[in-house]
Amino acid sequence: MELAHCPQCDSNHISRNGIIKEKQRYKCKDCGYNFTVDKPGKNIESFFVTKALQLYLEGLSFREIERLLGISHVSVMNWVKKYHIVIPGRKNHYKPTTLILTYAELIEFYANRENLRGIGVTVTEIEDKFMLIKWERTKK
Ligand SMILES: [Zn+2]
Repeated sequence: MELAHCPQCDSNHISRNGIIKEKQRYKCKDCGYNFTVDKPGKNIESFFVTKALQLYLEGLSFREIERLLGISHVSVMNWVKKYHIVIPGRKNHYKPTTLILTYAELIEFYANRENLRGIGVTVTEIEDKFMLIKWERTKK
């Protein structure tokens, strides 16, 4: 799918003509003008890469990340490799639980003092919802 138009003559008869500085370069077939546009989907991809790696660092498995973000666990594994992500020594006496909440539910969660007893919490915004990961101390 090509959405690009020639900025010179507004023709959409264009062809790909290489990639320069991470931008797709096009050549207009009508007037011969060369121009570049940002590769579509690049921002969306980097958003999901960041989220996936955050979740991985928070101790979620590849399968859980796949379920939450709808990204293949193979992609997530590749990103972990590509960006050399290493989890510092996992603590096994904390048990993570993941909740997906709306903003109102998030406020409700924090409003109840009992919900915060003996836990650690990380909140990550995901589109119009919030993912809350809490670690509860497990009794030894
Ligand atoms: Zn043109």
